[in-house]
Amino acid sequence: MVKETGYYDILGVKPSANSDEIKRAYRKLALKYHPDKNPSEGERFKLISQAYEVLSDSKKRDLYDQGGEQALKEGGLSGGSFSSPMDIFDMFFGGGGRMNRERRGKNVVHQLSVNLEDFYNGATRKLALQKNVICDKCKGYGGKKGAVEKCPACKGRGMQVLVQQIGPGMVQQIQTVCSDCKGQGERINPKDRCTTCNGNKVVREKKILEIHIDKGMKDGQKIVIHGEGDQEPDLEPGDVIIVLDQKDHPMFQRRGHDLIMKMKIQLSEALCGFKRTIETLDDRVLVITSRQGEVVKHGDLKSIYNEGMPIYKNPLEKGSLIIQFLVAFPEHNWISKERLSLLEALLPPREEVMVTDDMDQVDLVEFDPRERSYRSHTEAYEEDEEGPRTGVQCQTS
Ligand SMILES: [Zn+2]
Ligand SMILES: [Zn+2]
Repeated sequence: MVKETGYYDILGVKPSANSDEIKRAYRKLALKYHPDKNPSEGERFKLISQAYEVLSDSKKRDLYDQGGEQALKEGGLSGGSFSSPMDIFDMFFGGGGRMNRERRGKNVVHQLSVNLEDFYNGATRKLALQKNVICDKCKGYGGKKGAVEKCPACKGRGMQVLVQQIGPGMVQQIQTVCSDCKGQGERINPKDRCTTCNGNKVVREKKILEIHIDKGMKDGQKIVIHGEGDQEPDLEPGDVIIVLDQKDHPMFQRRGHDLIMKMKIQLSEALCGFKRTIETLDDRVLVITSRQGEVVKHGDLKSIYNEGMPIYKNPLEKGSLIIQFLVAFPEHNWISKERLSLLEALLPPREEVMVTDDMDQVDLVEFDPRERSYRSHTEAYEEDEEGPRTGVQCQTS
């Protein structure tokens, strides 16, 4: 049992989740609540990041499971000591690291929803996205050449010093990024500003990218398109990173290279044999037939070689298709008493039980887990209030 579930709740996973499930949950939520896509959810994005930072580190996770947030604080991980959500995000989605990033424009991370058929057959998808490109009119100067001047607010330093009184006779100097020039140290005189980009040097542009999904790619896989990210003056453009997100399939579940499906069969088919068809992800129809005399039990697993998922970069090889059989039993009173005895005569004989007077006849009822926990809490001392149970009655057959 874990002490608190807060971080698990934020990621929407169970406390028993393995590291893959935690990664997957973070991936989906971080992309959904990234400030680029959801500017009003900054706080949520931060919490998602903190939850992931704790739960993805086995030491921190153990600490949290045992003692909750308090234990993390005592272990030195409190509010201020979390990594920045953007760093966590860039690390997760392969932003190339901070050093690299500073000389390049921003990467654009985009999630692409893909169905299982497309992972099986391969597909090409068109994706429209918005990105910053260097303004064509001013070639990224933001205005007329020579119109650039030192920012008057910070005198070209890009930083402003604020003096704050923090107590009687005590002042504190705080350096902040200049808000007028956003730390650039220079600005373009408003009357010389480029009218196309409004002095921003870049404009937003819609770009259509063609994404190739290869056979056998999988959920969470990244496709990096170099140089198609945001452009900034004097910097190499960033990358577009496409993260594939698999939609659930109504019939097949994927596990590695294998596909898993459930197949309901009737009791008669389980005992006497069956022939069934399966539609594959590339629209072929497979026919499966049970072997002569074979009995299929509820929950039995069988597999078909080479009908699973194609293997990435080696798509002629495939995993297996695993079928789990679910046997549908008939409802109560589905047959008359007389015909039931005919059936019984055909089935393996039942075990006869000798009932003697010193045995207790008890009731067999449907199991209800809620009732059980209720009883174990309240009836520990009430059990034998009505005295010993009455003796055995005659068995009705
Ligand atoms: Zn300035
Ligand atoms: Zn311009």
